[in-house]
Amino acid sequence: MIVGIPKEIKNHEYRVGLTPAGVRELSHFGHRVLVETMAGAGIGFSDEDYAAAGAEISATAAAIFAEAEMIIKVKEPQPEECKQLRPGQLLFTYLHLAPDPLQTELLVASGATCIAYETVTQNGGGLPLLAPMSEVAGRMSAQAGAYHLEKAQGGNGTLLGGVPGVASGEVLVIGGGVVGANAARMAVGMGARVTILDRSVPRLKQLDDIFDGRVATIYSTQDAIESYALSADLVIGAVLIPGASAPKLISRDLVSRMKPGAVMVDVAIDQGGCFETSKATTHQEPTYVVDDVVHYCVANMPGGVARTSTMALNNATLPYAIRLAGKGLDALKDDVHLRNGLNVHEGKVTYEAVAEALGYAY
Ligand code: NAD
Repeated sequence: MIVGIPKEIKNHEYRVGLTPAGVRELSHFGHRVLVETMAGAGIGFSDEDYAAAGAEISATAAAIFAEAEMIIKVKEPQPEECKQLRPGQLLFTYLHLAPDPLQTELLVASGATCIAYETVTQNGGGLPLLAPMSEVAGRMSAQAGAYHLEKAQGGNGTLLGGVPGVASGEVLVIGGGVVGANAARMAVGMGARVTILDRSVPRLKQLDDIFDGRVATIYSTQDAIESYALSADLVIGAVLIPGASAPKLISRDLVSRMKPGAVMVDVAIDQGGCFETSKATTHQEPTYVVDDVVHYCVANMPGGVARTSTMALNNATLPYAIRLAGKGLDALKDDVHLRNGLNVHEGKVTYEAVAEALGYAY
């Protein structure tokens, strides 16, 4: 198969659909890989690295869209990319169609077959192509919180790990899934006192085993949220209710009673945020202050560490990319989990939740 990797064109997006190591794997299986010039330049993957891995370097995205049988990307295609897709062509990338009627309309009109990373499933539950970005965002959230606790960043001047003779900072993680566990791991590593709240008792049991007593696990109630938030230096919001907006677990009133200079990192901001005072921010301007509490609500946290994120994403997507390149659409017949990734096919929306959200026949 001919596989195409265009350079991402969304503002400040430096990730890339395949690393040179991924190109080498596909080339090994006999596929031709076309990579747009400078596609990985922002994260240290040069055209020479790609060429050495077996890629052909294309001067333009248009050349790639015209020739490739499968396009592999990271972000949802922008309108000018959607318009270059054609019937029979495969698109493998994040799509997030439900809140995006324009993209959906353009993909339907293209006639292409569009597989969304975020709806591919796995045995035992979980979303294997979303998990790596949750791992990244979770680990980053503790780092971002620690940094913004510095006085110069608006924080209360607490060093999370403390020093001998001085107490360490208090971190509250609300939601102990992939993001929350990774946030706690980093906070524990920095020497903070960490509490994780979750509504799932089996999950709290797992976390208790994983952390072996180094974090407190508490059942999530309004009472627990309030009492831990009031003493926390850093609160990390990491809840998810699949298919729904995030519940507002910290009210504006509670924020006003928190320690001045405390920091709140709302990782769930991509689902609307789990603090009443949250609004989405960017890597250029990541924080704002409400009632003396610093809010960090960057909606695409993994983009800030684009090199690590690209490699983590590739580790997860590559086995599927190899199967799609080898078998084409038959790869979906052989794997119900990959089939669950199919969102648009031959001019039809093929994912029930997207069809329902946007009023397409299903
Ligand atoms: P997950 O499903 O692995 O974990 C979510 C956890 O929240 C579950 O353990 C669930 O039991 C718990 N939960 C639900 N309601 C709760 C409540 N009221 N109190 C306490 N816990 C509750 O999900 P995840 O992969 O960890 O993702 C968490 C959030 O982070 C999602 O909203 C996801 O979209 C978001 N996310 C954001 C970014 C970003 O860049 N901002 C990146 C990755 C993920």
